[in-house]
Amino acid sequence: MIENVIIWLVIIVVAAFVLVPSVRKHRRTMKKDMARKKEAVMLGADKAIAQHPQIDEFLCIGCGACVEACPEGGVLGIVNGKATIINGLKCVGHGLCAEACPVEGIVVGLGDTSHRDDIPFMKENRETNLPGVYIAGELGGLALIKNAIKQGTEVVEDIARKGAPGKNGILDVLVVGAGPSGMSAALTAVKHKLSYLVIDQEDAGGTILQYPRKKLVMTKPVEIPLYGTLKRPEYTKEELLDIWGEVIEKTALKIKKKCKLTALKRVEDYYEVETNAGKYRARHVVMALGRRGTPRKLGVPGEEKSKVMYKLLDADSYQNNHLLVVGGGDSAIEAAMGLARQPGNTVTLSYRKEKFFRIKQRNQQRLDVMVRDKKLRVVFNSNLRAIADDHVELEAGGKLHKLPNDYVFIFAGGEPPFALLKKCGIRFGATG
Ligand SMILES: Cc1cc2nc3c(=O)[nH]c(=O)nc-3n(C[C@H](O)[C@H](O)[C@H](O)COP(=O)(O)OP(=O)(O)OC[C@H]3O[C@@H](n4cnc5c(N)ncnc54)[C@H](O)[C@@H]3O)c2cc1C
Repeated sequence: MIENVIIWLVIIVVAAFVLVPSVRKHRRTMKKDMARKKEAVMLGADKAIAQHPQIDEFLCIGCGACVEACPEGGVLGIVNGKATIINGLKCVGHGLCAEACPVEGIVVGLGDTSHRDDIPFMKENRETNLPGVYIAGELGGLALIKNAIKQGTEVVEDIARKGAPGKNGILDVLVVGAGPSGMSAALTAVKHKLSYLVIDQEDAGGTILQYPRKKLVMTKPVEIPLYGTLKRPEYTKEELLDIWGEVIEKTALKIKKKCKLTALKRVEDYYEVETNAGKYRARHVVMALGRRGTPRKLGVPGEEKSKVMYKLLDADSYQNNHLLVVGGGDSAIEAAMGLARQPGNTVTLSYRKEKFFRIKQRNQQRLDVMVRDKKLRVVFNSNLRAIADDHVELEAGGKLHKLPNDYVFIFAGGEPPFALLKKCGIRFGATG
């Protein structure tokens, strides 16, 4: 009898010391996640743009394994005891959440796309409503390098199967975009001896060029046409770009850089492709231009000046300068911190909202330290109004402030390519 009492006492003590704190911790996390979710909905950051976790609420046991597994951090949280998407914009679609879920309650995919007017209509072979015009890579809704490579390869395999009888002066395939999908499409064209050209409004590499330096890229084994298999689970940005560089050199891949697609017109049995650098004729067109579009401009006076940039490639090139960085995402914050670390720089980071929301926790912590140490200044609720040769005008707190300035870096997102594609005649939505 007394033994039973002792056993129960021990159980109660263990429960008090072990279970109670862990339940409390769980409750605190849930409360925090609920607040984060509310804020995300308010700021419109809750919806993912590419593939994302589809959570089966019935199966979910709210254990949080998916939250822990997400390498981007902050995409998922636990609300009302169930996993939920909190900051969908941050999701790249790695799918580690699905792998970590112990009850197989997560599938990573696009979900119901019938209501989405940002996903082009595609047949099974990824051909659009325009015969001979295909979609490859992230533009079709699925992110990740491995998907881009696979789809770029598959669409040109499809074109090669149909046969593309070369005609004088008319290309078999014109590829728009030199990211992983466009380059794989072009390499497949080389493999099948099709005449082709890749055009890109910027440089070869696509979105990978925009990654922060040394970012580790997780990818499953994937075959790059005419190169071989990328076997490792992680590559740095530089390693990946070196691999593409090597392939481009080895195959003398025809890429026309700084060449932007502006219009597309059907003429007889081919397309006339208009760009800012002239017209091309092609029997097939592969749209591999991603979803990030063209850097968004602010439309302020002076923005056309050469001192205004939309990405930062090399922070060490800027020293002893007055610099303004505009934006509130990770790219803006990483650029501002990179510039603030260089000798002699005065860096101001201007953001139009009252706080940063969709940034990595690590960036927030580093930024807080730099602001505390007066290495850079953050001005919330501020708007750039004008850019002059030696200064900028920044509106904050109802006043116009004149700041000395040598360079401006604007990170205001991109103008999505959907309007351009619609103008070309490509239909969107499930049925096109
Ligand atoms: C910060 C960040 C981190 C990521 N991390 C990972 C990761 O770790 N692992 C992973 O697998 N994926 C990651 N991704 C996703 C991955 O980078 C993309 O899914 C992939 O690059 C898509 O390839 P793509 O060829 O379809 O398009 P993109 O790489 O976007 O290339 C599109 C190309 O088209 C060009 N273009 C656009 N418009 C035009 C036009 N009008 N005319 C001519 N050219 C045009 C662009 O300049 C660009 O070069 C990440 C993405 C981001 C933004």
